[in-house]
Amino acid sequence: MSPTVSSALDDVLIIGGGVIGLATALALVEVGRGVRVIEAGTLGCGASHGNCGTLTPSHAPPLAAPGMVAQGLRWMLTPDAPLYLKPRLDPALWRWLAHFAARCNLRDWRQSTRSRSLILADSRQRLADWVVRYGLDCEFAEEGLDFVFRQQSNFDHYALQCEVLGEFGIESEIIGGMDYLRTEPALKPGVAGVVRYPGDARLRPDRYMSELARALRQRGGVIEEGCSATGLEARGTRVSVATTLGEKTAAEVVLALGAWSPAFTRALGLHLPIQPGKGYSITYTRPALVPRKAMVLKERSVCVTAWDSGFRLGSTMEFSGYDQTLNPRRLAALETGAAEYLHQPVGATVQERWYGWRPMTWDDLPILGRAPGHEHIWLATGHGMLGMSMSAASGQLMADLITGAPTAIDPQPYRMERFL
Ligand SMILES: Cc1cc2nc3c(=O)[nH]c(=O)nc-3n(C[C@H](O)[C@H](O)[C@H](O)COP(=O)(O)OP(=O)(O)OC[C@H]3O[C@@H](n4cnc5c(N)ncnc54)[C@H](O)[C@@H]3O)c2cc1C
Repeated sequence: MSPTVSSALDDVLIIGGGVIGLATALALVEVGRGVRVIEAGTLGCGASHGNCGTLTPSHAPPLAAPGMVAQGLRWMLTPDAPLYLKPRLDPALWRWLAHFAARCNLRDWRQSTRSRSLILADSRQRLADWVVRYGLDCEFAEEGLDFVFRQQSNFDHYALQCEVLGEFGIESEIIGGMDYLRTEPALKPGVAGVVRYPGDARLRPDRYMSELARALRQRGGVIEEGCSATGLEARGTRVSVATTLGEKTAAEVVLALGAWSPAFTRALGLHLPIQPGKGYSITYTRPALVPRKAMVLKERSVCVTAWDSGFRLGSTMEFSGYDQTLNPRRLAALETGAAEYLHQPVGATVQERWYGWRPMTWDDLPILGRAPGHEHIWLATGHGMLGMSMSAASGQLMADLITGAPTAIDPQPYRMERFL
């Protein structure tokens, strides 16, 4: 098909139809801005599709924590460990890892935890409001989330951290294994203890995406799928974007490209420290006996989410570049991990085996705000493991920054300038 040329001027053009692009678009149309979203594939075909759908203020602590380097090295020797680094000569990866390792200390951990908890708390509340306001039918449930431990020493060690999380406004409950098993028949005997986060929630990600798209379209937003941006150039007060469907021009352009961001922004002279953190999931028909809440099986780092419409095991973090293969060993590790904890670890029929690339920054904070040196180009990326959880707050913050409205949270910690 030959490319068509569109000469119309858009108000705001958003590149990337993942959860961050759509949430930004919705927050913008809400205040009367005209929005077009262009998406290279189909809406939500990136990380926003098959993820676990948990909304987790409880996950405020970043990956870079004291002791993480040693733990990561141990995991590298275990082929089916939850974290894997494919050794290779990639200077961007090694720079990223060096920065990450340097942050594995208490001071930086606290700083990231604080900034993550602020955006997570805003997003958790805002997303619940959006579900009501826009009537989002996405299997949203405010039921909390459980961290389940089978080893007493792991449980005891982790439970100590809960007091610190309280300082960041994250409520938790400690539940002994025997008490828990009395109320949760889906779990096998041998649970040492559980940490419950009553403030967490969950939804079904693909439904959330299609509902955001519906709400956006109903308010006049335009979505173009199969439209890949190939370059952009600022021309005075306008930005011109080259796409596979012709040139588009807009007053403001938002780059919401998830793990694809670094390659695209290089031409702007910006070096985004984002690595793709590959994760996997398997979605099944719903087994007869499922956990009552979403849970993380801690020793195996497997996340379990049950909806009326299905059942998903997900997780693993693999730094293997932009590798597009489904690694059968990682997928099998999800099932064997789940089988250690659950009576019915899988559903009767597999609906989908999936991988996605999380856009990982080394400080585990998203990049939100104006692109340095580019007045009309904006960055909304780097949400790592928590893009669903941070989506509503990110969208609102971007809309407020673009329109010059007061922001609900301080935007400072998320600005790209922290890396310059
Ligand atoms: C296994 C797994 C489990 C997860 N579980 C959770 C969870 O439980 N809770 C949670 O909060 N988060 C979770 N996440 C993280 C979450 O999925 C991501 O943080 C989030 O989806 C990132 O959204 P995004 O919009 O930035 O990126 P994406 O969804 O990847 O969207 C970027 C989009 O840009 C498009 N694109 C790329 N290049 C171009 C171009 N040139 N032109 C136009 N479009 C382009 C892509 O096709 C893609 O659709 C999980 C991730 C994984 C992998």
